[in-house]
Amino acid sequence: MTSKEWRQLSAEQLETIEGFQQSYPVKVGGLAKAFGLRVLLKPLPAKISGEIRPSTESEAGFDIGVNRFEKNTRQRFTIAHEIGHFLLHSHLIGGGITDTVLYRSRLSNRMEAEANRMAADILMPAKLIRKISSDLKIPLTEEFVDEFAEALQVSVQAMKIRLGV
Ligand SMILES: [Zn+2]
Repeated sequence: MTSKEWRQLSAEQLETIEGFQQSYPVKVGGLAKAFGLRVLLKPLPAKISGEIRPSTESEAGFDIGVNRFEKNTRQRFTIAHEIGHFLLHSHLIGGGITDTVLYRSRLSNRMEAEANRMAADILMPAKLIRKISSDLKIPLTEEFVDEFAEALQVSVQAMKIRLGV
């Protein structure tokens, strides 16, 4: 169920992410911090969900900015998406990448799709989906999408895409 992007990561990167996937919801702010990234809640314009830009104050050299006016589930996906850019496209960040609410930026749509797949792999790993199914005694069906979304603190829409329902 993991993406081809996931399989491009180093053993060390995978270990860091998997360390945050032992319980749900995945603590995505903690994961950003573990990669040396700072996460800043910002009053960004309404059409912008987030950004990643160079910073001399973070260990990794980049800060993630998240629109403080958006819902928590949305902010979590944005943080995971920007971590995706950091892991996959750090050489292209340059002066910064700004993502619209549709997760479009000056990068290609292909790269945006890569960051989205990485975000899904981070927030909704197959093993946690199975664990929730077992803990809550609910099957992996469309009927229970809301319960899975709630447990993983992701939007129902993101969860539907993940479950393919
Ligand atoms: Zn993006």
